[in-house]
Amino acid sequence: METKDTIYELRTKKGLSQEELAEKVFVTRQAVSRWETGETIPNIDTLKLLSKLFDVSINTLLGSPRELVCRCCGMPIEDCDISRETDGYFNEEYCQWCYADGEYTLDIWRRYAEIGGKEKLEEIKCQLIDELNTLLHIEGLPKVEKLNVLPGEFVNLEYTLPNGEKVKFLDDKQTYLGSQLESDFGVCIGIVANMDFLLICSYEENGETPELVIYKKR
Ligand SMILES: [Zn+2]
Repeated sequence: METKDTIYELRTKKGLSQEELAEKVFVTRQAVSRWETGETIPNIDTLKLLSKLFDVSINTLLGSPRELVCRCCGMPIEDCDISRETDGYFNEEYCQWCYADGEYTLDIWRRYAEIGGKEKLEEIKCQLIDELNTLLHIEGLPKVEKLNVLPGEFVNLEYTLPNGEKVKFLDDKQTYLGSQLESDFGVCIGIVANMDFLLICSYEENGETPELVIYKKR
């Protein structure tokens, strides 16, 4: 959708007149009218205000000229996945799992420069993969070959302890390195790791009836 149509649609959906929108973003009613006829587009400061007001990215306001991809994990990002700065504005460079409240959330990203950048990160991944394969030396199970960056809320499974108590070990707001292996014996093996621990679990399709296999501090 073009900018003019996007603005019109967002404005009317919010039940605002051109006048009311103009007031909220400190421009004249004529300016709003010119955006909606396609004569002009808002300047960058106004786009920021509109983005916050309508809760959509600047990319969306501009008619989605680029596909947003998180610079940390490489995941394509929709407006609902975009990270925010502490002042509430979108940060369209990162997804909400890799960056939140003005900080990188994944331990590895936070220590990215400290650990030596991309090359060193690959080394860390290889090291984790080796450790995992040593732990997971089980017949009928393929080897771990790569680790992906995964949002905590996707991998934070709830385990039921023998006494019936339910527990979670991860943080929904953090990101982790992980992978899934399909075994010959009907269950999936899930792996989650970061600099501090390795977690191996098994579960049925769709993450049902998860069981913790190994939780190991590094
Ligand atoms: Zn990300």
